[in-house]
Amino acid sequence: MTPDRLPAALAELDAHGLLRRRRVFDGAQRARVMLDGHACLSFSSNDYLGLAGHAELARAALEAVAMAGVGAGAAHLLGGHHRLHEELERALADFVGLPAALLFSTGYMASLGVLPALLDRHGEVFEDRLNHASLIDAAVLSRARLTRYPHLDLARLDRKLGQSRASTKLIASDSVFSMDGDIAPVRELLALADKHGAWLYLDDAHGFGVLGEAGRGILEHAALTAPSARLIYLATLGKAAGVAGAFVAGRHALIEWLVNKARTWIYTTAQPPLLAAAASVSLGLIAGESWRRRRLRELIERLRAGAAGLPWPLAPSATPIQPLMVGDNAAALRLAEGLRARGILVPAIRPPTVPRGQARLRVSLSAAHTTADVDALLAALRELAA
Ligand SMILES: *Cc1c(COP(=O)(O)O)cnc(C)c1O
Repeated sequence: MTPDRLPAALAELDAHGLLRRRRVFDGAQRARVMLDGHACLSFSSNDYLGLAGHAELARAALEAVAMAGVGAGAAHLLGGHHRLHEELERALADFVGLPAALLFSTGYMASLGVLPALLDRHGEVFEDRLNHASLIDAAVLSRARLTRYPHLDLARLDRKLGQSRASTKLIASDSVFSMDGDIAPVRELLALADKHGAWLYLDDAHGFGVLGEAGRGILEHAALTAPSARLIYLATLGKAAGVAGAFVAGRHALIEWLVNKARTWIYTTAQPPLLAAAASVSLGLIAGESWRRRRLRELIERLRAGAAGLPWPLAPSATPIQPLMVGDNAAALRLAEGLRARGILVPAIRPPTVPRGQARLRVSLSAAHTTADVDALLAALRELAA
């Protein structure tokens, strides 16, 4: 790309229905938000438990500001590792049932740190085709060979692992696929990791807080109670937890290695301690308020039952990510615009975020929604289908 080619390239994106634009929201993240100055019912956040705008999180952050100020002031190894970070890491490790945890400033940064810390150009990374962009970029940054397998095709993965002569192998997978909402078979993935001597890196960005009776995420969902030394667990704190940041959890030796080798952790300023304080309170609400997950399940069932007669099928998903499959980019945009005209926000997801010809509306449910909210969405979709 050169400066003189930019305007034409942008016009071309626009012509293909692929131009992305920001909209400005005011206030806190809730089921109803002010967007570009208009009130609308939002099905577009990842605030699955309705915690992002919760008053207790805000209060914890304010109290932490009074005690610890705003900025961490330094990287974790250079004096920026606050007691609030330390306490949160302990609580997170205990919550997911792993020996140790390490906080990162975002989930994206965590993956960009972990894979290059474990692999070099003699390694090989195996990734599901529908993995999140951050996992792909992490593999590229590590300089290991990147092998992608068709979505959930474990027979293919098994074969590719068997053919590999790499010194270090790593399987990376979303636990809940971010644009599809389906769940990876993690017990089978772990069995393949064991069989082939590979690491298993699980990105639980959309499972943490949501999956499992207690919201402990994919490991609880899959009843993996004595996780193996091969397992590396990542969860983010900006989705169901309603805050920001991420953590990696696993064996002590793994975490100690990351402290020494993960460049996106070493060479970056620690997150403001106030976020750790808010995340600690969030963890208590995730664990203590299981009604939020029950509400989500009710909403998911109501949406799926009500959408059965629509011309666009919902992808098979038991999670709060409910993609309405449209296909064509322009048709998906038109449908999203039609909903917006009715005061409802559902993002149209287009390539390259999803494969070509699979544009969709990504309906994202939250415990902050009511059954009336879901009914309003269904009614609007029925109108637009007519
Ligand atoms: C959102 C997301 C990330 C990135 O997490 P951030 O903390 O927002 O950077 C990583 N993986 C998956 C699957 C995600 O959906």
